[in-house]
Amino acid sequence: MPLSFSQLNLAPNLMRAVAEMGYETMTPIQAQAIPVVIAGGDVMGAAQTGTGKTAAFTLPLLQRMLKHESASTSPARHPVRALVLLPTRELADQVAGQVKAYAKYTQLRAAVVFGGMDMKPQTIELKKGVEVLVATPGRLLDHIEAKNVSLAQVEYVVLDEADRMLDIGFLPDLERILSFLPKSRTTLLFSATFSPEIKRLSASFLQNPVTIEVARPNETASTIEQSFYSVKDDDKRRALIQLLKEKNIKQSFVFVNSKLGCARLARSLEQAGFKATALHGDKSQDERLKALDAFKKGEVDLLVATDVAARGLDIKDVPCVFNYDIPFNAEDYIHRIGRTGRAGASGIAVSFVGGNNDMRLMGDIEKLTKQKINLLPIEFSGDQPDIRNQGHFNSGHRVWDDEAKRGHRAVREERVHASPRYAARPAPKAAPVDPFFSTPYQEPITSQAMVDVTPAKVGFSPNIKSKKKVAALFS
Ligand code: AMP
Repeated sequence: MPLSFSQLNLAPNLMRAVAEMGYETMTPIQAQAIPVVIAGGDVMGAAQTGTGKTAAFTLPLLQRMLKHESASTSPARHPVRALVLLPTRELADQVAGQVKAYAKYTQLRAAVVFGGMDMKPQTIELKKGVEVLVATPGRLLDHIEAKNVSLAQVEYVVLDEADRMLDIGFLPDLERILSFLPKSRTTLLFSATFSPEIKRLSASFLQNPVTIEVARPNETASTIEQSFYSVKDDDKRRALIQLLKEKNIKQSFVFVNSKLGCARLARSLEQAGFKATALHGDKSQDERLKALDAFKKGEVDLLVATDVAARGLDIKDVPCVFNYDIPFNAEDYIHRIGRTGRAGASGIAVSFVGGNNDMRLMGDIEKLTKQKINLLPIEFSGDQPDIRNQGHFNSGHRVWDDEAKRGHRAVREERVHASPRYAARPAPKAAPVDPFFSTPYQEPITSQAMVDVTPAKVGFSPNIKSKKKVAALFS
């Protein structure tokens, strides 16, 4: 039986915000986690995004912090008491938005810091004092090292999407950040899976955590209608357009496996008359937020995205998700289709299975979800053949094949590009002509190059001017 929020004895100013959000009953993760956190326990939660986990950790933390509420404008009266760490800028921005909405009727302040943005406005906000700080690890370290923020009074830490943070290689940054925190604190860890690495992280940083598992990571929501079509790689675009029309789909996410493929498909859909935009790790922060915003407002119909850029994004009512490419990791299939069918709504997930590589990856999905997949044929209606997949566009498909061969490497590169540290670099200048169609593929910066610019080694992010380097120039 669904439980009502009124059973929690939350403060009226929090209940007012909950009511304003329109929530009637608690989701399972909320019903299980909130009482534990209010009682002071650590939590290790396995919950997919879309389960309501943000409120599950934010509401009890705010409830416990209310005793520190202060109307004073003095920064000293608003030290950071709760730290929420997330792997990507979009997630950090999204979670901060929710935290602010729940804290709306309290005197508690929330702020978000992530890479790819000027540090100055973030610094001004930090210096005014904030109780809840939502951050990506790299940028937080930049602020710590620039002495813009102190974590000495932190009482609560949330490691959200912890598995993804480890995937991206944030473990050293996390260890460093946690070393700045008081030992006595409440720590909450949320992860889609409890891999051995996550268990190790939990053993090092959590104390006797209560384990809460609301949906196994290999479960897909029953409200999602999943179908898999056998489509030759060269016919995928045509199949996508046909199904969009046939199923009368107004808005959809279209997932692809590489940044290059992402940009190329979005562009080609635009040329076919769709309002499409690309979301991938090479886009500047500003471009990514604009793309999301345009999709949320309905100005864009098709958001063509790679996994890292789209992970965990909470965009309500996406009626459909296409897997234009079958993901390299079966778990990403669960995350991708989790963008639709959220909070009980119905959704459609369509996957295109092309060559042998896709067949193998589909087998991985069958194993993970323990569901037998029936491959459907696709019959093209007799209208125009997809001329894009012939003639001059063929050069593009050669690259597609190369990308498929690159497999996991492409995913790793995408992850590196999604790292806030990468984001801190200046965005490349826009080329005057469309580089995706006119220049050969070039390898992006490698993971090794990224490792070399970690603050642990150079001290500061590229956004903070190093006095030493300047002095060296003049000497
Ligand atoms: P999250 O898993 O935290 O990303 O939340 C997914 C979505 O569920 C967000 O849009 C929340 O606003 C929404 N949500 C959270 N809690 C509830 C609830 N108790 N009832 C309905 N929707 C909720």
